[in-house]
Amino acid sequence: STDRTLLLAGNWKMNLDHLEAISTVQKLAWALRDAKVDLTAVDVVVLPPFTDIRSVQTLIQGDSLDMAYGGQDLSAHDEGAYTGEVSGRFLSRLGCSYVIIGHSERREHHGETDAQVRSKVEAALRHELTPILCVGEPLEVREAGEHVAHTLDQLAAALDDLPSADLGGLVVAYEPVWAIGTGKTATAADAAEMCTALREKLRELLGADTAQSVRLLYGGSVKADNVAEITEHPEVDGALIGGASLDPDGFAALCRAA
Ligand code: PEP
Repeated sequence: STDRTLLLAGNWKMNLDHLEAISTVQKLAWALRDAKVDLTAVDVVVLPPFTDIRSVQTLIQGDSLDMAYGGQDLSAHDEGAYTGEVSGRFLSRLGCSYVIIGHSERREHHGETDAQVRSKVEAALRHELTPILCVGEPLEVREAGEHVAHTLDQLAAALDDLPSADLGGLVVAYEPVWAIGTGKTATAADAAEMCTALREKLRELLGADTAQSVRLLYGGSVKADNVAEITEHPEVDGALIGGASLDPDGFAALCRAA
């Protein structure tokens, strides 16, 4: 799609310990090579649990694997008395390029608010991490026909008044909550509708040039056999993949199919 590089990001959630992470990344590198995935045309990213990141760094940097990695969350704060939290600075020091912010599981199970999501976007930018900002509606909102307004409100709350010069590399993932881990995928038309609306809103918030460079992902039960149809639309620049990113051969096949 246009001049934006396709991005396929695997959100491991709370799966794979640091030893499993090593074998998964190693197998993924082999599988991407065997599947002849053109890594100049697609950015492949893994998002492991925090405790895996050192191991993943050693492997990816040590063997110069053509992959990037990042965290699944970060603290809004940089350091201090915040027990259990992880600073963006620490992620950055471990070579992370990306960080997921505002995943629906964090909004749901940890009560993350739009205001906290916004503070985390600011924290990521302070430490030169690319936010993968997640937005998307629950089922009842879609059934009420309010999904576009709901999702654009989340986007605006996260980005309003931030300096657009800092946001050229931003990634926004549209993840309808009802499609995450349920096997129910939004149709390619649903993904395209929302990504088109998100781009329009980004133009309003950040100006046309910055909006044009933001990558818009779809997430929710993406698999090797539906990824191509979803990313075919010019406004959909890739996918955020949960379950289907855990199996290296399957994830490589998905990267190949995209
Ligand atoms: C996700 O959690 O970001 C996700 C898209 O999960 P799944 O692919 O398993 O639906």
